[in-house]
Amino acid sequence: MSDASFVFGSKPIEIESGEGASLVSTKGTSYLDMGASYACTPAGHSHPAVVDAIQQQAEDLVYVQASYPHEQREQLYDTLADLAPGDLSKVWLCNSGTEANEAAFKFARHATGRSKIIAAQRGFHGRTMGSLAATWKQKYKQGYEPLAGDFEHVPFGDVEALAEAVDDETAAVILEPIQGEGGVKPAPEGYLQAARDATEDAGAALILDEIQTGLGRTGSMWACESAGVTPDVLTVAKGLGSGLPIGATLCTDWIAEDAGDHGSTFSGGPVQCAAANATLDVIQEEDLAGNAATVGDHLQDRLTGLENTRDVRGDGLMVGVEVKRGANRALRDLAIDHQVLALPAGRTVLRLLPPLVLSEADADTAADAITEVIDE
Ligand SMILES: *Cc1c(COP(=O)(O)O)cnc(C)c1O
Repeated sequence: MSDASFVFGSKPIEIESGEGASLVSTKGTSYLDMGASYACTPAGHSHPAVVDAIQQQAEDLVYVQASYPHEQREQLYDTLADLAPGDLSKVWLCNSGTEANEAAFKFARHATGRSKIIAAQRGFHGRTMGSLAATWKQKYKQGYEPLAGDFEHVPFGDVEALAEAVDDETAAVILEPIQGEGGVKPAPEGYLQAARDATEDAGAALILDEIQTGLGRTGSMWACESAGVTPDVLTVAKGLGSGLPIGATLCTDWIAEDAGDHGSTFSGGPVQCAAANATLDVIQEEDLAGNAATVGDHLQDRLTGLENTRDVRGDGLMVGVEVKRGANRALRDLAIDHQVLALPAGRTVLRLLPPLVLSEADADTAADAITEVIDE
């Protein structure tokens, strides 16, 4: 690894190429990618339709500012508005998850004329000054304060605490339908609906951060759909561009109509939009949400009740395996001994966020490998 790199730790495997749910190292070893670099490649690595869309668009035009209408950007606005839950028909495009959440906070504050934002303990919303204020983990904040002000945290899943915190000074509540970084913790039954009711009563916005849960991962296009809850704002990023940097903030009319003055230079760049359009096409045409539901259920069945585990949870192809022994050794053994790449969520949870093209045979390979490493 280059001496100039200092933020990321490096893994002892140099990756050269990828296809579907597999990554290949410079040594020619093939790995089953059960992490997809944090859910960034729902359609699989270098899906031909996505590669083709990127290549064609790059040849025609790499970039033009967002105030000139561009075919790929217009198409993405329309597709996202179509796919959005309920009446979230207004779309802001940006470059990452944290930026999508920053926009959500700004729009909610402007539209409500209030400042207080309530987030959940163990939630993760990004690393810039506003999103970091909404994020729970102290380690990510240390030495960077002061962050954006007027953020409060309530225990995730506690209906009463949330109802008590939301009042007529609240601009927004932000929640993940399933906490990812916080340990793959699904919101308890009824919690999102309670958040919907509390925000509606108080005239506050409900923001759902679907940056990790969205785009078919949990078995439906958005995780909020299975809870039957429509937020006022929904944020998406991670897999939207199959690895190219793009995020979106989807808003209902009352937010969009009074959103204030916001912008970002690379908003909706043609190449990123082409990648996103192709990705959304593949997700729909190949029914990747359906595949995530089926293969995800199979994977959870295979992992449930294993020795040395405490819990298996999640939905679709967002699965957490809580192990008794530390997760890091299991992850290393999975990679080195079984060529299976996965992710941690805290110290005791293996987090699986594979490409949504994962086959049942791939899920068996992963389950066999996990069974072996946690049995050692
Ligand atoms: C990754 C993630 C973010 C931040 O996205 P970035 O693109 O890294 O800024 C925010 N919220 C959730 C739930 C995430 O998983």
